[in-house]
Amino acid sequence: MMAHLTSNIGLVDSFIIESRRLIKIDVSHIICDLDDTLCSRRAQMRNEPLLKTNRGDAWNAIVFNELWAHDFILEHYEWIEIPQDILTLLTKEDSLILTAGIRILQELKIRSLNLDNLNSRVVASWLDKILETIYYVLFDLKFIPEIIEIYEDRPHHFVRYRELIETCLWTKLKVLLVEMNWNQWYKKIEEIISGSPLERAQIQKSILSQESTS
Ligand SMILES: [Mg+2]
Repeated sequence: MMAHLTSNIGLVDSFIIESRRLIKIDVSHIICDLDDTLCSRRAQMRNEPLLKTNRGDAWNAIVFNELWAHDFILEHYEWIEIPQDILTLLTKEDSLILTAGIRILQELKIRSLNLDNLNSRVVASWLDKILETIYYVLFDLKFIPEIIEIYEDRPHHFVRYRELIETCLWTKLKVLLVEMNWNQWYKKIEEIISGSPLERAQIQKSILSQESTS
């Protein structure tokens, strides 16, 4: 399983040894996505037709080369009101915003939304979030939270690697699927229970999305 993330077979053992050196504290720590979890991108897609049909690298190229990143941020992130349900759960001590994309763009979004008082980290791709979560707990938190709660509109990799994270970090992972109704309210914040049909569908999605990008 780890082979998808790294070719170092001894890595899991290192994570396990490191995590057992840390103390476990009876708290929940939240790891929360940014795009379409705290702030919806639907209005951008409606107003910028080029974005509607492009994703990933193509999306980023359009933002930088056609729309100009700073203009794009000003228009779509400054003074934007976002729903508070998840946001009010986030504190500097007990949470991390973990977002994937081009760093300058994600950093600008976070600052424009006035979320830069919280901890945040930018990784290159969705899948990188799995290893980053492990490194973050081992070397930044430096303690093991009893529960780690994941808020994500695309939680499939976390669902697929739930067991890996739980084993490496000696913790319990609670994964929540988030669905926004534009930036007005949350349609859904639903826990993905182990063994549920929803979990199986998400694991399938993770396998397919990795096959299509590898
Ligand atoms: Mg997202």
